[in-house]
Order: sequence, then structure tokens, then C-alpha cells
Amino acid sequence: MSVVAIAGFLLLLYCSMHIPEKHSAAGTTIFTVMSAMAQQHNAINLSQGFPDFHIDERLSDALGQAAAGGFNQYAPMAGLPALKRQIAESFKRRYNVTVDPDTEVTITPGATYAIYTAFTAILSPGDEVIVLEPAYDSYIPNIEMNGAKAVVVSLQAPSFTVDWQQVRDAITPKTKAIIVNTPHNPTGAIWTKQDWDELAAAVRGTEIFILSDEVYEQLLFDGEQHYSVLQHEELRPRSFALYSFGKVYNNTGWKMGYCIAPPALTTAFRRIHQFLCFTVNTPAQYALASHLANDTEAISAVMQRKRDYFLELMRDTPFTIHQPAKGSYFQLASYERINDMPDMEFAEWLTKEYGVATIPVSAFYKSGKDDRLIRFCFAKKEETLNAAVERLMKIS
Ligand code: PMP
Ligand code: GLN
Repeated sequence: MSVVAIAGFLLLLYCSMHIPEKHSAAGTTIFTVMSAMAQQHNAINLSQGFPDFHIDERLSDALGQAAAGGFNQYAPMAGLPALKRQIAESFKRRYNVTVDPDTEVTITPGATYAIYTAFTAILSPGDEVIVLEPAYDSYIPNIEMNGAKAVVVSLQAPSFTVDWQQVRDAITPKTKAIIVNTPHNPTGAIWTKQDWDELAAAVRGTEIFILSDEVYEQLLFDGEQHYSVLQHEELRPRSFALYSFGKVYNNTGWKMGYCIAPPALTTAFRRIHQFLCFTVNTPAQYALASHLANDTEAISAVMQRKRDYFLELMRDTPFTIHQPAKGSYFQLASYERINDMPDMEFAEWLTKEYGVATIPVSAFYKSGKDDRLIRFCFAKKEETLNAAVERLMKIS
């Protein structure tokens, strides 16, 4: 047989081999799609959530020092003891909760990974997980990758509050977990203590786990305080709390985060973690440990100034802001006064015609529900926000 014939045979064989879909989401995430579109059209990128300003110099210096100082080999599987200790101290200081660094904290390569790992630790095929939509786009694929089913409950626009009757109605004997997110991406809504009490009442007497995505816990505005699942005595024993350093220290590209969960849940989490990535970037762990020890920055205040600045600028555009973000670094806006295109089409049009990239909110719904809203990321330099809004003011 000639080489060409063998190559052809192999190609045919590979093409006919079955590759399972694993999940029902679209081929490429909306964040990748919109950031690529922004680049292609030289647009200002207010789509994917990442800051465009420099990180604290002490943090980048600490990273360089750790690498130069020889801290370049595997860290312990659950994380560097100094970093886990600093995290526990930070939770004591900020929330007055006691966290055992050895048995309750695991360092992860970002929160997306931590969410997947927590799901994988608890889910079996056929289980159900309740997801409140709109929702960060990795949740449902992560559930489905574990053979489980996402049961969606819609938040109530325009304030995006939870209809607790709908949550209670969605619970079945197959419900294994509920994933919640506060401050919320993409809506900027935050949960009150009363929401946590409602959740506790809904799961009381069941064996339902809680995944609490708190990556924006240090970004709340107007004097609002974050209430963590770790502060809720009834919920904490059944909860995985998930965090990202990227959102706190403006270094999303480091992909560093952590999971805090009671010892039994942490043991289950590490059973997966140790065979998924085993351990996380050592110099970054050293740098974060030293930074947490000296961390004095008022992170919410910095981001609130950006939110306020952005909202003020947006008053001169034809967009409508129904509700200022209470947390996170995202602001939803309605384009009802501009046109009635579907939101994906509108986001494309805005990128191509006016040079500003945003995220269409339908991407956060399994059904693609379209409320004609787009999401702006305001974690940007003032000059970036000025330039973007100058372009938006030209919309006729
Ligand atoms: N959860 C939410 C709600 C998010 O917006 C993000 C985006 N960064 C993540 C989790 C993931 O964080 P990380 O980049 O640390 O994986
Ligand atoms: N969390 C970020 C956002 O919502 C992006 C994360 C990602 O690109 N996967 O924009």
C-alpha cells in the first residue's frame, strides 16, 4: 500500500471514530468570541471581564523574587502552607469566620477549575443541579461533563432577585447541588442575609450541596457588605466556597484561586484535585502569600470609582441603565432606545460599526433567552472608558 493510501485510510478511520459531545454548550465561549471580534475590528474591549491596568508592583516584584529565589518546584498538593494560612487569617479578619488552613483550604488554578473540581467530587450521572440564570457560562457544561443535568431557574429582571418559590419547586429527589453566585456575573446583583436564609430553608432536611461562587467578594459598592456562605452556620457544613485571586488583585491571567470547604468536603475535593492538576504554580503562590500579608488596598473603593465614573459617562449615550451594579465589575445596559436587534446581533453591530465590544446577556442562558441587554466590563482605565463612551455617543 502506498503512503498516500495509508494516510487516506487513517484519515477515514479517525473521521469515523466517535467523539462524545460531553456538554451542550456552543463550540467557543462568548468571551473568546467577543475578545477575538474586538481584536479583529480594532474595537475597545469592554466584553471579557479583565482589567486593563497594571497590577500592584509589590505583587509583580514578589513573583519575580520567588522565581529568582529558587521557588520553582512542586508546591504541596493542597497548596503552600503560608498561602493557606494567609487566606485563613484574611477570612478571620474580614468575616470573623474561623477556617482551618490545613483541612479546609485548597489552592487551585483559578475559580473555574475549582468549580469543576467541586462538581466532579460530588456528582454522579443522573444527578440534577439547580442553576440560577443568567449564569457564568462554565457551570452548565461542568455539570453535564459529569453526566448530570442542569435544572435552570430564572432570576427576576430587572433587579435579578431570586424567586424562592421557583427554587423550592425545582428541587427533586435527584437534586444533588445548587450553585449560587454573589456578587453576580453578569448582573452585578448581590445577595442579602435573607437570601441565604431562604436557601437554608429550601435545602433543610435534604442532602443537597451548595457551591457558592464568591469570586467578586471584594467588589461591593455603596457601602454594601458581602455575606459569605461561610458565615452561615446552617449552610456552611454542606458548602464549597470558591474564590479567584484574579478578581481581587487584577491579575486574571495568573489563573489562581482557592476552595474553602469543611474537612469532609475538602477531602472529596482533593481526591479529584490531586489527579487533575495535583498542585498549582509555586512562585505565584509565594507571591500571593507575601502580598496577602501586607494587603491594605481598599479594593471595592477603587472599583466603585470606576463604576461611578462609567455610569456618569453613560448618561450621555442612548443606553438605559435599569439598575446600577451593586457588586462585580460588570454593568448591564438596555439598548431599547437604539434598536430591537437580538442581543448577539447588536453586540456584533456595536463592535463592527462603533468599535466597542460587549457581551450579549443571552449567552448566560441555556435557552438563549434574550432580554435585549448587553454587559459592559468597567474594570478599565479612565482613558479606556472615555474612549469607549465617546464612540457610544455617536450612535444615532
Ligand atoms: N465565576 C465567575 C462568576 C466569574 O465571572 C469568573 C470569571 N473570571 C470565574 C468564576 C472564574 O474565575 P477564574 O478566572 O479564577 O477561573
Ligand atoms: N469571568 C470573565 C467574564 O465573565 C471571563 C472569564 C473567561 O473568559 N472565561 O467575562
